[in-house]
Amino acid sequence: MSNCIFCKITDKEIPAAVVYEDNDMLCFKDINPAAPVHLLLIPKVHFDSLAHAEAAHEALLGKMMLKVPQIAEAAGLTNGFKTLINTGKGGGQEVFHLHIHIMGTPA
Ligand code: 5GP
Ligand code: ZN
Repeated sequence: MSNCIFCKITDKEIPAAVVYEDNDMLCFKDINPAAPVHLLLIPKVHFDSLAHAEAAHEALLGKMMLKVPQIAEAAGLTNGFKTLINTGKGGGQEVFHLHIHIMGTPA
């Protein structure tokens, strides 16, 4: 999506502090952190939100969920972490490219 800020980060058109990347997903530091560690995990393919996910995204979403604890541990969140997916305006979503917030305080 040409207008999407997270697609621009995926395409390296705008910079981000990337902590994990593979063929399917990208994880980077939130620009306005709400916790000592605040990361955003996004699929490289654009879809607006969890409410826009389709059956074709099933394996991708599973891979992302399984990657979350690995990313959290690598970020020092060995004592636990919080995940959050805001969905839609009523759910507090501001950037309409699905993302999983990963937040916590290093142990
Ligand atoms: P939402 O409210 O949509 O769930 O969260 C969007 C998050 O994206 C916010 O926590 C905000 O700080 C973060 N964010 C918005 N624009 C940028 C950006 O250009 N770069 C990075 N790294 N984070 C961003
Ligand atoms: Zn996008």
